[in-house]
Amino acid sequence: MAPPPWHVLGAGSIGTLWACRLARAGSTVRLLMRGPAQLARYEQGPGLRWVEGGVERTFRLPGDLPDAPQPIAQLLVACKAYDVAAAVAAVRHRLVPGAQVILLQNGLGSQHALAATLPEACVTLASTTEGAFRRDDGAVVFAGQGFTWLGPTGARPAPLWLSELEQAGIPHQWTPDILARLWRKLAINCAINPLTVLHGCRNGELTKHAPAITGLCQELARLLQAVGLPNAAVGLLDAVWEVIAATSQNYSSMYQDVTAGRRTEIHYLIGYACAEAARLCVAVPALEQLRQNLIAHLHAEGLPTD
Ligand code: NAP
Repeated sequence: MAPPPWHVLGAGSIGTLWACRLARAGSTVRLLMRGPAQLARYEQGPGLRWVEGGVERTFRLPGDLPDAPQPIAQLLVACKAYDVAAAVAAVRHRLVPGAQVILLQNGLGSQHALAATLPEACVTLASTTEGAFRRDDGAVVFAGQGFTWLGPTGARPAPLWLSELEQAGIPHQWTPDILARLWRKLAINCAINPLTVLHGCRNGELTKHAPAITGLCQELARLLQAVGLPNAAVGLLDAVWEVIAATSQNYSSMYQDVTAGRRTEIHYLIGYACAEAARLCVAVPALEQLRQNLIAHLHAEGLPTD
């Protein structure tokens, strides 16, 4: 029996990256559009334009409205964390019992909030180091080869659709410890991204702010221990410096969002870390001060602070 189609909710940078690779490997992929205007614009255009290794390819994948009649058995949610709840709510009535729902969001907070609204679905969380961005001309560029960890919200064996990722050439591994992966990435993000925004600098320039990074990592390590993930705290400071060295010429995703005037995912990154610290009574004064400074900066830039 043929596997069910993939429905991609959020055909932006990372959604295009997944949709095009799955389609290239022969999987059936449909794009879920926000509404009639977005669907019409998409259908009048060339389709998804995807650039890998300097070579551009176009994929004319079918687009659907949220209230299209087809049931959804496989849903890839690739919108920003702050859009997840509304986007999935618009298609929830189409999910079959036991539907596979894969969440690609960075940070934490949106995933478990959504999973609680989908008790009959099999929800998978992803943590990826792949990178993609949309060029001014609309094409999505596969900017950073990477790796994707996938794992369940509860205890569940590896799903059958992993073979489709294999065929699509999406490097991945199934892990029951996905929460530790997401928290570790979140902690590294907290130690790097807000500072790059506040200092207006590339990742590599954070070498000038070593004491601040050391202090943040001490607090973040305590927080990881308090949430019950001590392994995610091991070697955190070294891992942060490794990321800074490997990405020294890059601007962080949060820096890029702020300079482009886009809403950030602050609420699901440092905002989530500070909220969890407060809930667990873990003192994180440097992290909390950083969050407040970041909010003041976003406010001054006229950007949402949530
Ligand atoms: P993005 O380029 O902004 O794409 C998000 C897409 O979702 C946009 O096309 C947006 O459409 C669409 N969308 C929002 N609400 C929708 C709705 N109700 N129905 C249909 N589509 C909807 O964002 P991204 O960079 O791909 O990031 C998505 C998630 O992946 C984020 O959580 C991010 O942290 C994570 N991530 C991204 C990367 C990366 O390299 N890009 C890497 C790792 C993780 P509109 O443009 O119309 O709003």
